[in-house]
Amino acid sequence: MSNSANNHQYRLCSKCGNFSNVLERQSFCILCGTKLIDQCIQCNEPILHPYGKFCYHCGAPYLMEPYKEVKR
Ligand SMILES: [Zn+2]
Ligand SMILES: [Zn+2]
Repeated sequence: MSNSANNHQYRLCSKCGNFSNVLERQSFCILCGTKLIDQCIQCNEPILHPYGKFCYHCGAPYLMEPYKEVKR
């Protein structure tokens, strides 16, 4: 749980890689409508690098597999 103010955490779209600063308080990707993640889905470490594609802590990919079809 992170309750301290940290200006350098990001939310990341696990589908298209779009990101926003947590301060922008966006819950969903403005490009594709996917729910943004604000931490590693595997180890729950916060996302500190907006261009990161993998977790710096455990190496888990932030992005979904590119070939997965999305339900409409
Ligand atoms: Zn997206
Ligand atoms: Zn991780």
